[in-house]
Amino acid sequence: MAIAVYPGTFDPITNGHIDIINRALAVFGKLIIGIYDQPGKQLLFSLEERMDMAGKAVADLPNVCVKSFSGLTVDFVREVKGAVMIRGLRVSSDFEREFEMALMNKKLAPDIELICLMANSEYQFLSSSLIKEVAKLGGCLEGMVPDHVATALKEKFSVRIPGGSKREG
Ligand code: ADP
Repeated sequence: MAIAVYPGTFDPITNGHIDIINRALAVFGKLIIGIYDQPGKQLLFSLEERMDMAGKAVADLPNVCVKSFSGLTVDFVREVKGAVMIRGLRVSSDFEREFEMALMNKKLAPDIELICLMANSEYQFLSSSLIKEVAKLGGCLEGMVPDHVATALKEKFSVRIPGGSKREG
């Protein structure tokens, strides 16, 4: 059975990601969630925190594991003997970026296939960055992230004292 790899930043994992994981699992026997350690964008959570949240979110799923990687995604997919890379597509802007990356990856690793799953209509609007915005402003995240992720976000955005430290608020 082919091993599928779902790479991403997962800062943090959302119910949209989890939906893609479940659907990919229905097709592939084994799924590896690859968490990119240092993407070229600002992160809220450390690699350890992102791995811990993703691990807890999939703890009940058989044949799923969480690994971190750095460097080229295709190198990571090869290293873990993955045959297929999974990505989720929401709006058309996702498509353009994913298409560009897919062409580059195909050039680098012609043997690795990319499979994109369309986001469930329920999660089309869900992105990690929007989740962080809402959490920062104290909005309700019910149905958007697992409870432990909502708690971690709340903790991150607990009232900050000028100077950088923070206290519960
Ligand atoms: P990136 O890997 O671009 O940093 P993420 O870590 O947020 O982005 O997401 C990993 C993958 O999951 C990407 O293919 C992204 O398009 C997809 N994805 C993100 N949010 C959703 C969602 N709500 N529904 C389906 N797929 C999603």
